[in-house]
Amino acid sequence: MTDHIVVLGAGYAGLGAAKRAARRLRRADARVTLVNAGDRFVERIRLHQLAAGQRLPDLPLAGLLEDTGIELVVARVIGIDPEARTVRLDAPPYDLSYDVLVYALGSAADLDRVPGVREHAYTLAAVDEAVRLRAHLIDSGEVTVVGGGLTGIEAATEFACTRPGLRVSLVSAGLIGEGLSVRARRHLHRAFSRMGIAVREHAPVAKVATDGLLLEDGDELRTETVVWAAGFRVPDLAATAGLATDRHGRMLVDRSLRSVSHPEVFGIGDAAAADRSGRPTRMACQTGLPMGLYGGEAVADLLTGRKPRHARFRYVWQNISLGRHDGVTQFTRSDDSPVDAVLTGRASAAFKESIARGTVWVMRHPGPYRPLPR
Ligand SMILES: Cc1cc2nc3c(=O)[nH]c(=O)nc-3n(C[C@H](O)[C@H](O)[C@H](O)COP(=O)(O)OP(=O)(O)OC[C@H]3O[C@@H](n4cnc5c(N)ncnc54)[C@H](O)[C@@H]3O)c2cc1C
Repeated sequence: MTDHIVVLGAGYAGLGAAKRAARRLRRADARVTLVNAGDRFVERIRLHQLAAGQRLPDLPLAGLLEDTGIELVVARVIGIDPEARTVRLDAPPYDLSYDVLVYALGSAADLDRVPGVREHAYTLAAVDEAVRLRAHLIDSGEVTVVGGGLTGIEAATEFACTRPGLRVSLVSAGLIGEGLSVRARRHLHRAFSRMGIAVREHAPVAKVATDGLLLEDGDELRTETVVWAAGFRVPDLAATAGLATDRHGRMLVDRSLRSVSHPEVFGIGDAAAADRSGRPTRMACQTGLPMGLYGGEAVADLLTGRKPRHARFRYVWQNISLGRHDGVTQFTRSDDSPVDAVLTGRASAAFKESIARGTVWVMRHPGPYRPLPR
């Protein structure tokens, strides 16, 4: 009987997994269906560039799937029934049965942790949100980015570089670039001051209003535009279906990326949390892409009677763009903690650009790429 692999989500993790599995199983009695809400591959790591007014390449999934034999279904997943091994969709064919399910639905902006974000803030986590922000920024003289993590830093610097007339502020609950080395943070602050970005650290936001922010210490910051880059959440489909998840709803997976509660389900990318010596994997393209490739291989192992291999990947750097001509590459230990070595300036920006291009290259040709061995 033909095995049916259904992959949910065609981001960095899901697309890579589907193509890897299809490639390995092309001579086996198996078929792969890839379900995605849209018909384009979205380069999420460039959405701040899109919001800043830059053009991104158009990447139809149909083109990326050419000659793979993978069937693309453009629909939104609205439910999973692990007992019946079916997935419910909001568009034809409405129901899909699977033998093996790959859960790769990514993440979205967390709109509900702080009051007012949903009503008054702009976000960057999905392409329609970035397009809405881009349209709004055309007539805006001022933007405040909330979030001192990598997305907030990249967004604030991209806006400052691309729109020189725009007044840009960056507000963070803690330090900006908290997990980075002192050298890397020093470079960030030099770049902020050169670009005229007003910075406020240790300033948790209590509320977002129509005309600005209320901070937990009672201060009010008036601003025309708030961009919320202070947290992501994952879809609740896995938890609702009764699959084991952590307290954030990320699917808990073992070393072969299989659900710890339902071994016929694999979890990869932002929507899954693999344990790395007591610490969950970081939500990042840097994690999701190798998880996808390993996940595809592990699915193929399972269906060809082999023991699914263990995913082995490690962190080497964190790459942060500061506009198009500057950047910080923070080199890290394999557990993602920073070492003192950093690359900055144009060399870092060029490196980041080559990595971003490389991710699309891997999405086109997921065969030869091998994640770094441990
Ligand atoms: C502005 C920005 C900059 C970033 N920069 C970096 C960076 O420099 N480096 C880095 O490592 N990471 C970066 N990230 C994080 C990175 O983009 C994510 O970690 C990565 O996209 C996760 O890959 P994924 O495949 O798990 O999920 P995604 O890329 O989010 O893909 C999930 C897919 O599932 C689809 N989907 C979701 N729900 C449903 C549903 N119910 N039904 C059907 N389809 C659905 C989505 O449409 C999407 O196609 C950045 C993120 C943002 C927003």
